[in-house]
Amino acid sequence: MRDRVDLLVHGDVVVTMDGSRSQITDGAIAVRGEWIVAVTTQADAAAWLDADRTIGGPGTVVIPGLVNAHQHLTGDRLIRSTIPDDLPPGAALTDWALPVHAAHTGDDDELSATLSLVEAVTNGITYTVEAGTVAHPERVLAAYDAVGVGGTLGAWGWDLGDGPHVAHLDEVIERQAATVSMARDHPRVDAFVTLVGHDLMSDGLAVAASELARATSNRLTFHLSPGPADARAYLARTGERPVVHLARLGVLGDHVLLAHAVHIDDAELDLLLDLDVAVASCPWAYLRLGQGVTRSFHHPRMLHHGGRVALGCDSENAGDAIDVLLAARLFAGLTKDTTGDPTRFTARAALALATIDGARAIGKADEIGSLEVGKRADIVVVDTTRPEWTPHAVDPITALVWASDGRAIRDVVASGRHVVRDGRCLTVDHQMLAAESRDAHRRLVSRARAHPRDQ
Ligand SMILES: [Zn+2]
Repeated sequence: MRDRVDLLVHGDVVVTMDGSRSQITDGAIAVRGEWIVAVTTQADAAAWLDADRTIGGPGTVVIPGLVNAHQHLTGDRLIRSTIPDDLPPGAALTDWALPVHAAHTGDDDELSATLSLVEAVTNGITYTVEAGTVAHPERVLAAYDAVGVGGTLGAWGWDLGDGPHVAHLDEVIERQAATVSMARDHPRVDAFVTLVGHDLMSDGLAVAASELARATSNRLTFHLSPGPADARAYLARTGERPVVHLARLGVLGDHVLLAHAVHIDDAELDLLLDLDVAVASCPWAYLRLGQGVTRSFHHPRMLHHGGRVALGCDSENAGDAIDVLLAARLFAGLTKDTTGDPTRFTARAALALATIDGARAIGKADEIGSLEVGKRADIVVVDTTRPEWTPHAVDPITALVWASDGRAIRDVVASGRHVVRDGRCLTVDHQMLAAESRDAHRRLVSRARAHPRDQ
């Protein structure tokens, strides 16, 4: 008896990233509603399936939707390429990103998040962990809905320092709880308790945020030690290095995703492994900001010892391009170079970070990260007729990681919905977005330049 599905995705090769890393020549993925219902060959699918639509076909490789585990959706997105790239450490944040965040209206937050998610999805990213929106998380939720991709929602919380919306601990926790309930029961968006982190949170806030995440079965994410400054600040305030201090407070656990954790010592690395704390590694940010990752790159050691690591693209002045394939390539190159061992890390391992291992790091491996029956239909079709794939992709993963990037993404299906066709986002009108963002850009740049340190 024949069966009916909504969508079939065909590829010359389907790279499943399942447990045995199986690849299917002339493969087909069948989708019903938001879910994958079959992963098979095209011949087998033709024998028993009728589909309303078929995409992909000859000249394509099919991979799982990509995972971006640390992305600022709002803030400096609307002033991208304006912040100078020769500022001293921290100045891009204090002199530009924070004043701009403070000047964001609700419309700006939604516009910024929409632009970020459109760029992300056209580069094959179907799930994004947001690094934190200062003022209007509900407008970020509207952006997720407009673009049609999955991700997390996070209100940026802090109770130390002098940034916008810095607040008393109780107020920060109240906002976090409100954001968590905003995403409750949403089909594609989860809430993470989201702090700025660094040395901009009191011990009380770190503990309360961790407890809130545990009590609501959510996760906690915050920035820590992208450079050496956080360790200096924690040592001065507490006499302990950051990971040691936060572990002693009981903040850390398998529900925590740290952004960065680059400048850590051996004891901190052991603690992250013992407590199964996940890390979002954003290699382009570290190079762009000159943070010394080539001298302190512990993430490969974390992976080597079974730790959970995902890739992130960070923000406009810290990595800029929202393209996880670029991050995967750089991570692989840095690993080979800093270990001095070219046998240590492969294109396969890099693609795993961008897909199934990244999903595991953010606690979503049962739902996304691989092409398997029962998983969410997040599917990416790569165009292998492009010059960088010519003459022939003998090993599609090697070609994808070392030679290609988001420009080769042709079609994207997110939760069963066809959201990118021929490299263009179908759900949001880019021309209209571009016009709106030019107006916002002018307004926000003049605000940042007029009041660089008044927030
Ligand atoms: Zn960040």
